Amino acid sequence: MDLHAHTRRSDGLLEPAALVAAAHAAGVRLFAITDHDTLAGYREVVRSGAVPPGMDLLAGVEINAIVGGRGRMWENELHVLGLGIDPDSDELESVLATQRTSRRVRFEGMLARLRELDLSVDDVIETDGLIHPDDIDSLGRPTIARALMAKGHASSVEDAFSRLLSRGKPAHIARDGLDPVEAITVIRRAGGLASLAHFAEAPERLDTVRELIAAGLGGLEVYYRTFDRPTVAGVADVAAQLGLVATGGTDYHGDLGTYADAHAGLFFPAAAEAPLRAALGLTGTAVQP
Ligand SMILES: [Zn+2]
Ligand SMILES: [Zn+2]
Repeated sequence: MDLHAHTRRSDGLLEPAALVAAAHAAGVRLFAITDHDTLAGYREVVRSGAVPPGMDLLAGVEINAIVGGRGRMWENELHVLGLGIDPDSDELESVLATQRTSRRVRFEGMLARLRELDLSVDDVIETDGLIHPDDIDSLGRPTIARALMAKGHASSVEDAFSRLLSRGKPAHIARDGLDPVEAITVIRRAGGLASLAHFAEAPERLDTVRELIAAGLGGLEVYYRTFDRPTVAGVADVAAQLGLVATGGTDYHGDLGTYADAHAGLFFPAAAEAPLRAALGLTGTAVQP
């Protein structure tokens, strides 16, 4: 199982079909493509018949929701995963289109900042085979980070973020977008399970989680690849205590190693599968009543 991964249609590096094939090769049978603000990758895989036999591929999305006036959370964002959403929902598509427009505006603004800082990446963005913004439905900072690396202005994606692209750094620009309650609402209206992604602070932020449950949150990303075991245990306790289904995933983007390596580093116990399938309304290996 892996219910959190990105393709080139947002800020990942792999083509959607290649990501799905890599997941299948790693033994994943329940998989979600969760690109930021777009279902383009999921749709392509389905349309081209590239869903491997025996794999349940979920339509997914990750919405980086903006938190206003709730203290100092990470970059004032909460990331909400929509899992098993209806890919034909017009309402969701129109909301995501607005989100993508804000991303493009921000992307252009950050490129302009880099120009002012004498760190222009414009030529790489236009010519490098790795980075074609017009192929990318949903532009994100990792794309700019990779361009900075290609230009020799940064040694890694992390280096680019920590010196230039993170909140408070010189090339950072804030983005407009949905707040977490709006993100959860639109996911639910499109028939999806809304799960709060990589929220390691959950045990200290129970009130926040409760507020989101009142808005329709149904899951918590307990088995996140880079959580250590104590963090998984703490977040798992919150899920159990508040009645949220535990989700999990690699959040694979393609920068650090192969998909197989990322998947090997993911602790996602088999016992988590039945409740998850039930919450997603999937039959198959779900526990029978
Ligand atoms: Zn995220
Ligand atoms: Zn992600």
